[in-house]
Formats: sequence, structure tokens, C-alpha cells
Amino acid sequence: MTDTAEPTTETRASSTGSGAYAELVAGLRDANNRGHTRPLAWRRTQLEAILTMLDENEGELVRALKEDLGRPAMEAFTADIGGTRTEVKHILKHFESWATPRKVSMPLTVQPAKGRIIPEPLGVALIISPWNYPIYLLVNPIAAAIAAGNCVVAKPSELSPACSAVLARLIPKYLDDQAVSVVEGGVRETTALLAQRFDHIFFTGSTNVGRIVMQAAAKHLTPVTLELGGKSPAIVAADADLDVAARRIMFGKFLNAGQTCIAPDYVLAEASVRDKLVDKMEATLVEFYGDDPKHTSDFGRVVNEAHWKRLKGLLDTSEATVAVGGQTDEEDRYIAPTVLVDPAPESAIMQEEIFGPLLPVLSVESVDEAVSIVTGRPKPLALYVFSGSSATAADVLERTSSGGACVNHCVMHIVPSELPFGGVGPSGIGAYHGKLGFDTFSHLKSVLYKPQKPDPKLMYPPYTALKGKIVRKAM
Ligand code: NAD
Repeated sequence: MTDTAEPTTETRASSTGSGAYAELVAGLRDANNRGHTRPLAWRRTQLEAILTMLDENEGELVRALKEDLGRPAMEAFTADIGGTRTEVKHILKHFESWATPRKVSMPLTVQPAKGRIIPEPLGVALIISPWNYPIYLLVNPIAAAIAAGNCVVAKPSELSPACSAVLARLIPKYLDDQAVSVVEGGVRETTALLAQRFDHIFFTGSTNVGRIVMQAAAKHLTPVTLELGGKSPAIVAADADLDVAARRIMFGKFLNAGQTCIAPDYVLAEASVRDKLVDKMEATLVEFYGDDPKHTSDFGRVVNEAHWKRLKGLLDTSEATVAVGGQTDEEDRYIAPTVLVDPAPESAIMQEEIFGPLLPVLSVESVDEAVSIVTGRPKPLALYVFSGSSATAADVLERTSSGGACVNHCVMHIVPSELPFGGVGPSGIGAYHGKLGFDTFSHLKSVLYKPQKPDPKLMYPPYTALKGKIVRKAM
């Protein structure tokens, strides 16, 4: 913990501009090289401090989420604060065993020998996060990086300024500022940070900015984890329980006003049930938010005016029929939970990631047609299949590729720490959560231990015919 009255590395870096980032990273690397972040006891203290930070400041974090995103208190807790707490607790429970050298059995060719995989810290990690879950998406990777013994520069999003300011104040107060720094800012600051040499870059954000990050990383051959976006489909088969499908899709879609990377982006429903499904979606929305969602405290707002305008544009150019919702209020950054049917296939709403409270529902002749629509597009971050038949669900999963998936639910695969979370192709590179998060921030060093004796000459020159014969038998 640091006394906030002292100038921290973070405040020094932001006060003196990009030149100071080199100094900041050098200071953190030095701490890492000195082994400051290696002891498991140090890591435990830091992870526990994260939990304390979340507990002691829950009210302030909830208020910041409300200010940035109009986030309902329940969603602030479940999706940001509680989700982070659960993950950090899981890490605390297991990181010591993940950090223990892993035994590997050795083949005859190297016997007698022992093999171990030793996880070692990568060094200094840069973590860049987006605005939609500003606490969860910054603090979770920080916890994984710390658990693996790294130093961290964390860059929250400038588009959730209240959360960014709270985190920039709390993190240096609760965590060791010799090891963890927060740099606030937008494109200019991130670009200057990306010019530095890091040992890992963990980026969560859009696919386009992911490309920029990867290009910057390539200059230093820095490994990256890219947690990106995309259009995640939900397929509803005719044999699905439509009440359940409607409720779960409405929940996954309109949580955080649709600003969720794994929200269902569009629905492909078998034609025989499409209209029934849309009716049930409408009934569900009344159940969730009452007759006028604008006046419930359970539905959030679009993050800023630029995104509101982008979403309004998607709605206006969709050429779709508005089945539910469609009301907007620019001043309030409000867009009603909206279900659209039959948008034009070439319209922007069917081409770009929506990332807001608009849900196109299309009809398809069969699950087969849904699968060919999905496989004709870039690989999504998530895929959801609703069906009463496990064979249908298995078939969809086998014939499609997506970062993650749920059968008969939406978004919930992000919850269990045991399930790695990440994209595939344009929706991401690498994954984290639980042990995979620890491994993401570790170098898995292979070590072979040999006793000094015996030292058979079999493998050494001169290579005689007899040696060749014996070696061939062993390999
Ligand atoms: P974004 O890519 O615009 O911004 C993400 C971060 O990158 C921010 O911290 C921002 O300051 C920085 N940034 C923006 N432009 C930059 C540039 N030109 N150079 C360097 N840095 C830059 O994304 P966003 O709008 O904050 O978030 C929305 C996107 O993130 C969506 O595509 C969504 O699907 C995706 N997302 C993915 C996940 C996931 O876990 N896979 C989670 C949340 C959001």
C-alpha cells in the first residue's frame, strides 16, 4: 500500500507525458528483475488487497458505473464488482499450486532424468481495457498478472471517465506502486505506452484497435493477448423452449444496455417459431422493464453521444420492421430495448458489431441454414444455440467455430473461472480466467534435470554402427 500523499509512479508518468513512460516501465522492470514480485507471499498480499479495495469501495464503484453507463446497481455488482471478486477469490485459492513446478514424465531417450515445467513471470505487462465493464476488464487481468508474479501498467478507458478516475486513485492506494501503475488517457497516451517494450500486452477492445496493438507489439516481439469483439449469433431451433430462450436472450442482450462483448448480436430463428419467439421477447421485456423501460432503474444508457448516434444510425438504416421498442432520446442517451425483424442483409446493422440495445431477429429455413450463415462470417466471440435436442446443439457446436459458446443460455460461459475466456480468429487471440489467465502471464519454462552420473557415451561421437542400432531401437 502507498500513502496517496506521495507522488506515485503513475502520477509522475501522467504529469510529465510520454517521455516518462520509458522511465515508468524501466522502474517496474527493475522491480521485477530484482525479484520484488516473485514471492508467493507478496502475490497473496496484493490479491487480498484487490478484494479489500473492492469491498471497501463498493459504493463508490457502483456510483462510478452509474455515472458512466447508467448501470443498475444490481448489474454493477454482478457484472463488474462481484464478477471480479469471484475471479480473484478463485485465483487466491489456486495460484500457489499453479506456480508450483509441474512434473512431466521423461522418455527413455533421456533417462535417468526428471522433467519440470516451471512457470516464471514474464516481466512487465501492459493491460489496456475498454469502457463497457471498466472494473472487471481491468482488474481481472491485473489479478492474473500479479498472481503470475508480474509488474503491471494498467490503462483504463477514457470513455468511462468516472470509473477510470476511481481506479486510478484506488489502485495505487491498495496495491504496491513499485509493481502496479495506472496510466489514464486515450489514444495519445496509449500510443505512447505502446511504443515502450513490454513483456506482454493484454488488450481488451475492438478488433480494429487490436490490429494497432499487435502492430506495435511486433516491433518489440512482445506477445499479445487480444480480447476482441464481433457479431455473436444466437440460433433458436424450432424445438427450443421459446419462453426460456426469449428470457435468456433478452437478459444477455439488454444487460448493460447491450454493451457487452458477448451479448447476442443477432438471432437466427427457425421460420416456424420466429414470430412466436418475437412475441415472447416482447412479453419478457415488459416483465423485465415494465411498459416504459425509460423509467425503470433496471435498464442502462448508451455510454456517450458518439455511440448513441452510431446506434441510431444502425437503427435508421436497417430497413427492418421494429417489432418491439425503437424509441430513442438523444439527451438521455436512451435507446429502448429494441427487437427488429428482417433487416436488410447488407445493412450496417447486419455487418458491424451492434454493441447496443438493438437486436435483429432473422428467420432461417433450418438450423443448417443458420450454420451456413454463421460459417460464412468471421468467427464470432460467442455463439448461442437454443434447442431441446442435445444432438442439434452438438451438431451446431461441431460445425461452427467461436471463442466460446452456451447451449440454451447466453453470456453465462464467462462466469466460471474454470472455463477459459477468449476469442478465435478476428474475435481474439489467447484467453484468460482461472489457470489459463495465470499461464497467459507466465513463461512456462521447460527444465530437464540430469544426475551427473551415469553418463553413457551412446549419444556422443564417434557414431559407430552399434550405437546407431541401439539408438534406433530407443526412438
Ligand atoms: P476500443 O478498441 O475503442 O478501445 C479499447 C482501448 O483501446 C481503450 O482503452 C482505448 O483508450 C484504447 N484505444 C482506442 N483507440 C486506440 C488507438 N487508436 N490506439 C491505441 N489505443 C487505442 O474498444 P471500446 O470501444 O473501448 O470497447 C468496445 C469493443 O471492445 C467492442 O468491440 C467489444 O466487443 C470489445 N470488447 C471485447 C471484450 C472481450 O473480452 N473480448 C470485452 C469487452 C469489450
